Amino acid sequence: MAKQATKYIFVVGGVISGVGKGIASSSIGLILKNRGLNVTAVKIDPYINVDAGTMNPIEHGEVFVLSDGDETDQDMGNYERFLDIDLSRVNYMTTGRVYKTVIEKERNLEYGGKCVEVVPDIPLEVISRIKKAAEIAKADVVIVEIGGTIGEYQNLLFLEAARMMKLETPKDVSFVMVSYFPTPGTIGEMKTKPTQYAVRTLNGAGIQPDILIARGDTNLDNKRKEKISMICNISADSVISAPDVDSIYDIPLNFEKEKLSDKLCEIMGIVCGKLNQKEWGKWEEFAKYAHNGKDTVKIAMVGKYFETGDFVLSDSYLSVIEAIKYSAYTEDRKPIISWLNSVDFEKNPEKLKELKAYDGIIVPGGFGQRGVEGKLNVVKFARENKIPYFGLCYGMQMMVIEYARNVLGLKDANTREVNPSSKNIVIDVMESQKEHLKNNSYGGSMRLGGYKAILQDGTVASGAYGVKEITERHRHRYEVNPTFIEELEKKGLVFSGRSPDGRLMEIAELPKKEHPFFLGTQFHPEFLAHPLHPHPLFTAFIQACIKQK
Ligand code: GLN
Repeated sequence: MAKQATKYIFVVGGVISGVGKGIASSSIGLILKNRGLNVTAVKIDPYINVDAGTMNPIEHGEVFVLSDGDETDQDMGNYERFLDIDLSRVNYMTTGRVYKTVIEKERNLEYGGKCVEVVPDIPLEVISRIKKAAEIAKADVVIVEIGGTIGEYQNLLFLEAARMMKLETPKDVSFVMVSYFPTPGTIGEMKTKPTQYAVRTLNGAGIQPDILIARGDTNLDNKRKEKISMICNISADSVISAPDVDSIYDIPLNFEKEKLSDKLCEIMGIVCGKLNQKEWGKWEEFAKYAHNGKDTVKIAMVGKYFETGDFVLSDSYLSVIEAIKYSAYTEDRKPIISWLNSVDFEKNPEKLKELKAYDGIIVPGGFGQRGVEGKLNVVKFARENKIPYFGLCYGMQMMVIEYARNVLGLKDANTREVNPSSKNIVIDVMESQKEHLKNNSYGGSMRLGGYKAILQDGTVASGAYGVKEITERHRHRYEVNPTFIEELEKKGLVFSGRSPDGRLMEIAELPKKEHPFFLGTQFHPEFLAHPLHPHPLFTAFIQACIKQK
């Protein structure tokens, strides 16, 4: 059979943000993948930032790092996890990135002397990026999620690009709108009007949605389905009800119950197989775990948290939370994650005792000075009381500082990031980073993305991975200072993973006979944890937590 033309499914959001466009996009992708199609995804973020790297995670959510080092939006993590694929910078764009390219091209005379205009030159650059992503993935289907909400100024040029693509090849482009249907407490019934306005606004951009995903507290009933269908010009069976769910992993299953993939195939004339029952079964099995878990495993996440609600916190550490879930589910446990503010452990030794209530402790990635002394107290407590401890990036650096202070007796040991005048800088700035810091150049300048590491035989790390060489994703500016390695090792800390040239310490641990699990990674293993492929280090940590219980 001749290869079909690549199909593009644009996902846009109506009424409010935060109703799950990313999960809807990932879910549509997963279903189509399970129908035998080669699927990739593109995320468009309307902001000017060239990447997400310079944004505060407390405001924006997690910075998700790709293998090639691109610092992106957390939705990229959702695509990788749901689709079980590896994406790269061609799959991510922002207004800043698009404009930067257009301006550079203009400076290089690539427009051949013509006047370069916002329309069509910006949308044309957007289109060329989307097509490039399709080409690289050899995709049958590209899911393109346009960030932001319909009606705002910021994403207009991206909608314009989508409209132009539809005009060029109408059969190969479709639009899914994920919209919100509120049920105001005082009224007590679900209202469709906000979505009616949103669809009209989208129509104003020259776009008619083919599918409407109705997000809300409850199911959209038939009466309202018909009403929205009639007013918004969408057939009633293309309005998909998507009520709140306990687990995001149920969403693909719910979409398929509403025959979403059949509709998409029909709209765009996609020829493909039925759902691959074996693969789909694996997902169903996995999704079931979220509701099972007779027993729990209690994890304390100790970080520098501001006065933010749970919502923002869980957004800032999304990949860590999901990685914990995948590994806990395979052990048939329900993870219970508690957020503990490291600042609280700074001056209150009594408080540390509360840590005994947890099966394990994680210190995730972080930056800056606030709360560091509290984290160090927590690490010491975990080490001395043999509570499983897993340090991610900053959490590994904390392990090394704590060991240097309390085992090697270097009382002022620190990281240059916190105290540059300490006599014992056990975590120092990387050679490659010195220039960047001198020039105040912060954007995209850390050690970023996938790097290889070699594991030492007979260690906790090599036992967990079961291989000799790994590749993991990084995002850091500092590293273990080579001057202290020999002394740290002499006193029992094992550097079980190193860069291939042996210079950079990638994993630190205590041997199993010393501690049930005391391990930290300079990289971020959470970025590679996938639902159907839990991360081996998270699994080893969870297993140690369960054993400890
Ligand atoms: N702040 C530390 C560094 O730059 C750790 C970074 C992190 O945890 N991602 O090296």
